[in-house]
Amino acid sequence: MSPALPNASEPGSGPRAILLFDIDGVIRDVAGSYRRALAETVHHYSGWRPDPACIDALKEEGRWNNDWEASLELLRRHGLSPLPDFQSLVAVFSGFYFGGDPAGDPAQWRGFIGDEPLLVDRACFAELDRAGIAWGFVSGAEPPSARYVLERRLGLVDPPLVAMGDAPDKPDPTGLLRLAGILGGTAAAPPATVAYLGDTVADVLTVRNARRARPSWRFLSLAVAPPHLHASAQARSSYEQGLKRAGADAVLPDTGSALATLEQLLSAASRPEP
Ligand SMILES: [Mg+2]
Repeated sequence: MSPALPNASEPGSGPRAILLFDIDGVIRDVAGSYRRALAETVHHYSGWRPDPACIDALKEEGRWNNDWEASLELLRRHGLSPLPDFQSLVAVFSGFYFGGDPAGDPAQWRGFIGDEPLLVDRACFAELDRAGIAWGFVSGAEPPSARYVLERRLGLVDPPLVAMGDAPDKPDPTGLLRLAGILGGTAAAPPATVAYLGDTVADVLTVRNARRARPSWRFLSLAVAPPHLHASAQARSSYEQGLKRAGADAVLPDTGSALATLEQLLSAASRPEP
């Protein structure tokens, strides 16, 4: 029999579960922003503009979560020599993405960041609160960009966030484990079930690495195909199969289904085994 889950109404019992979200492709559609900046940065240096399928194929390898490194890798595979200096590539990328000083006033930004449709609304997080689910964000996005979408666009106040530079890049699970530990309450006991919703193989691998690092905790890998794939049933299905093969416990139709899916998985786990 599986152990019973803590009851949300029990005072001091901590959250029933912890749901952590990736940001890009999960909270916002970055097809016209980060992904476009990646393609334009590669084009800037090589004259070749990688198409979305080419970027997806690279991302499916599970180790190119950082878009600066992904840009450089595509240039390397395209045969560019010599490769640009990393810092100057970051500056070119940033010019496309922010179009202004990342540390400055977002109202002055003129780059692709202005074109990021949201994939959830604020009400989603109020629902999680009502369900006794703690939530937060673990993302490889730059901190000014992550704070911009969470605070300015979604209106969340001081959201729990691990962003680029706060922890090693995914699929290293350090950031995920740290935030889960903080949200889960005590250091003495393992936190409740920790679920992570991401849109890439690297996100799924982050959960698998977290399991290895904390064998006594319970982790769930939730995955969703990023929105740019939703237009093609075939591309989407093949991408979702890749997420399942990597080890996703559930593939969601959209980010808004996260709470319902998590509830299903929690109740399945709390039912006595036949
Ligand atoms: Mg993502």
